[in-house]
Formats: sequence, structure tokens, C-alpha cells
Amino acid sequence: MTVNVVPATAESIAAAADLLAEGGLVAFPTETVYGLGGDATRERTVARIFAAKGRPRFNPLIVHLAPGMPAEEIAIMDERAQRIAARFWPGALTLVLARAPGCPIALLASAGLDTVALRMPAHPVAQALLKKVRIPIAAPSANPSGRLSPTEARHVVDLLGEKVDLILDGGKCPGGLESTVLDLSVPEARILRPGLVTAEEIAAVLGAPVAIAQAAAALTDRGGAGEIISDEEIKSPGMLASHYAPKKPLRLGAEAAAPGEAFLAFGPNPPRSILASLNLSPTGDLVEAAANLFAYLHRLDASQAHTIAVMPIPEIGIGAAINDRLRRAAAPRP
Ligand code: AMP
Ligand code: MG
Repeated sequence: MTVNVVPATAESIAAAADLLAEGGLVAFPTETVYGLGGDATRERTVARIFAAKGRPRFNPLIVHLAPGMPAEEIAIMDERAQRIAARFWPGALTLVLARAPGCPIALLASAGLDTVALRMPAHPVAQALLKKVRIPIAAPSANPSGRLSPTEARHVVDLLGEKVDLILDGGKCPGGLESTVLDLSVPEARILRPGLVTAEEIAAVLGAPVAIAQAAAALTDRGGAGEIISDEEIKSPGMLASHYAPKKPLRLGAEAAAPGEAFLAFGPNPPRSILASLNLSPTGDLVEAAANLFAYLHRLDASQAHTIAVMPIPEIGIGAAINDRLRRAAAPRP
């Protein structure tokens, strides 16, 4: 078998929609990262997504909708959810909501929870595909569980290859970080995973501060046999301490590279490593840094270095989401 990767065109998007309608798996670009999509209403297809990613069964999937598709048939869209969706959809915000009565989404996609995660992506290829197929599409990031997320089609080729029926190449993902996950299934809205939409932006719409849930420090994404995981801990497995990890260890807050280290810099005139150096944003632009983060970690991970040293990133706006991913990538592995 060969890896099936094609440029995203009207024809290939139509072919991808046919594949999805038949229960196939299609990787496609979104404004955040590449997603591994399948029909969210079929338990078997959702099971294939879990298998392709090696994802623990307790980690639920995000369901993607085209603009115009009725979210209220899937989840309970109260006034607060409608207000948030009106402001941030389409876009990089995922809402965790109570499943509606008669919700058509596979129970496996919710991983046994009584909630469902919904997003309406803004990327033109993702939208064209969702509009064509007109079924809710479960699409976690198109990478093996726990590894770096893919922001280019070739990352998906390298990471998942033949496990995907078709990869739509739509170039680099403009955002480069996963969506913000906002839990609206509880009275006090809280962020389960920081992302491109910031806590400040959400608080402005809610008219109240929004809490950011902390990572479950003792947990890993591998779900070892016999591990006891409480309901609260699995509320959002994106909160697992070790996640988004390159193969090489990371050293955070580094001012310069030590011998044998690759260097991931941020800002003007950084020191360089003789082995490999990349700068997330020479002008110190956090949006540019977020877009480059995973692609640069993929590249430095392929270098000769034994460790990737990373310069400090300011904890402002999207910087909070960048630091969240870096901390998880640096966390002790199972
Ligand atoms: P990924 O699909 O790889 O982008 O990851 C999806 C993220 O959304 C993970 O952090 C999940 O834990 C989180 N998520 C999805 N569905 C739910 C849900 N029903 N409740 C809480 N978190 C969810
Ligand atoms: Mg992921």
C-alpha cells in the first residue's frame, strides 16, 4: 500500500467527502493543526480513529460541523453557548457541552462522558469538505497519541502514513496550535486546554473571568493498564501532563544551547547552536511563534542534537498556549 496524499482541490475534496460518507478516514487541514477525520455518527469509524492514533479510549474526540449544520441537534446549546458560538465560530474554539437527547454522535467519540466537544473550523479546505459531506466529522489531531501535532501534510504522511485513506494537502496550518477547549457543561465555564482563542477574549464575551483547569500532573496520555483515573482527572485528557511530545527531551527557559543541544529561539538576535537553530519569531510575534511551534519542533527533533533547548516565551495572550504545549512536551514520559 502507498500513502494517498493529494493537493486539496474541488475534485479531491469531493472524493474525500465520498470516502468519509463510506466510513473512511481522511486527514485534512484546519486553521489549528491537521485533523484525522471520520464520520462521528458511526461507532466503527470512530473506533478506527482511536486505533490509527493509538489513542486511549478515555480521551474523547472533537466533532467538527460545517457552518449551517444544527449544533442543537447534537448538544444542548443554552444562551451562554449560543453567545460564545456566535462570537467565535467558525474558529479555533471547541465547546464541551451536554449531549442533546437523541444525540447522533457515537458514544465512543464522547469516551463514555455525557458531554460532546464541538467545533466549527474556519479553514477553507475544512469548511469545503464539511459542507460537501454534511455529516458531523470526528477529527482529533492527525498524529499518534502523545506525539507532536502535524501542521503540514508531510507530517501526517510521516506520522500516520497508510493508516489514513486519504490526506488532503492544503499547505501549512495558519494557526499551528490546537483549538482552545472551553467547558460549558458546568455552571462556571472553564478552559480545559489553552489555545489560539485566549482566556481574555472568552472572558470578555462571558462578562466574567474564566478559570484555566490545571494539568493532571501525575497522569500520562498512555493510559497504562491498571491505572486508576478519576472522573475529574479524565474530564479533559488534553490536560494530561505528558503530551505533544517530540522524541528528544526538551529543556525549557534556556538562554543558550549547551553542547549537543539544538536551540529553539524566540525574539531578535538570539544565540545560536552549531548543531541546529530555529527562531519561532525573530520579531517576537507570539502569533507567528504559535504557527511555527510544532513544525520547528518536528525539524529539531530530526537533528543530530540529544536535547532541544527552548528560550523563554512570554506568558501573554497566545504565549500561554505555547507555554502549555512546551510544558507538556517537556514533562516526564511514561
Ligand atoms: P485532539 O482531538 O487531539 O485535538 O484533542 C481533543 C481535546 O479535546 C482533548 O484534550 C480532549 O480531552 C478534549 N475533549 C474532547 N471531548 C471532550 C469532552 N467531552 N469533555 C472534555 N474534554 C474533551
Ligand atoms: Mg491531539
